[in-house]
Amino acid sequence: KINTKKYIEYIEMAAKKIEASKDYVTELDSITGDGDHWVNMNMGFEKLVETKEELATMDLGPLFQKIGMLLMSTVGGSSGVLYGSAYIKAAKTIGDQKEMDINLLCDVLEAKVNAIMERGNAKPGCKTMIDTLYPAVTALKEALEKGLNDYDALQALKQAAIDGMNSTKDMEALKGRACYQSNKGAGHIDPGAVTMCYQIEVLVECLC
Ligand code: ADP
Ligand code: MG
Ligand code: MG
Repeated sequence: KINTKKYIEYIEMAAKKIEASKDYVTELDSITGDGDHWVNMNMGFEKLVETKEELATMDLGPLFQKIGMLLMSTVGGSSGVLYGSAYIKAAKTIGDQKEMDINLLCDVLEAKVNAIMERGNAKPGCKTMIDTLYPAVTALKEALEKGLNDYDALQALKQAAIDGMNSTKDMEALKGRACYQSNKGAGHIDPGAVTMCYQIEVLVECLC
């Protein structure tokens, strides 16, 4: 089960993973966008890690609300608004529950992807972070419906995220800055899909 302490451990691991991806993510956003996606995400995660003592005092719902507000105010670009909205919507799903089991985690991830799709007016197939998160949530839901154990369900979540990320390579962008490139980013993985995938991979690592 995930409580505040566990979630902050996850945030610290995700921050390290993002930090280490500087060159690759910057290169992808330089080719398909304006080159700042790594800087944006890294700034957000640095801020969360800097704030961890305060975050540690909060229950999960308020924690997610606070994370959303911090990301919204610290992270520039589309990703700040999108991740901010995702966390704020997920906070409502958690409410006053102090722990998340895998079923609540699934609801939280679903709330996040719905918030991102609503805020960005996008759906799967637009070559965005949604192409990682949407199939991942779908796979987790299916795994839980089939009655898979937590470990196998989380592995299904992770694998679908990786496959989803890779599926953006051949897509032509319908949303985001890659739309403005002459080839619509085709031939290059979407940077937002990559950082979303890293966060899911780390979450699964942290829980398995
Ligand atoms: P900006 O594009 O404003 O510079 P970032 O570089 O931080 O912002 O984020 C770019 C990423 O945001 C893209 O790679 C894509 O995954 C995601 N993105 C952009 N627009 C949308 C949208 N409308 N819906 C969902 N995701 C989007
Ligand atoms: Mg950018
Ligand atoms: Mg930008």
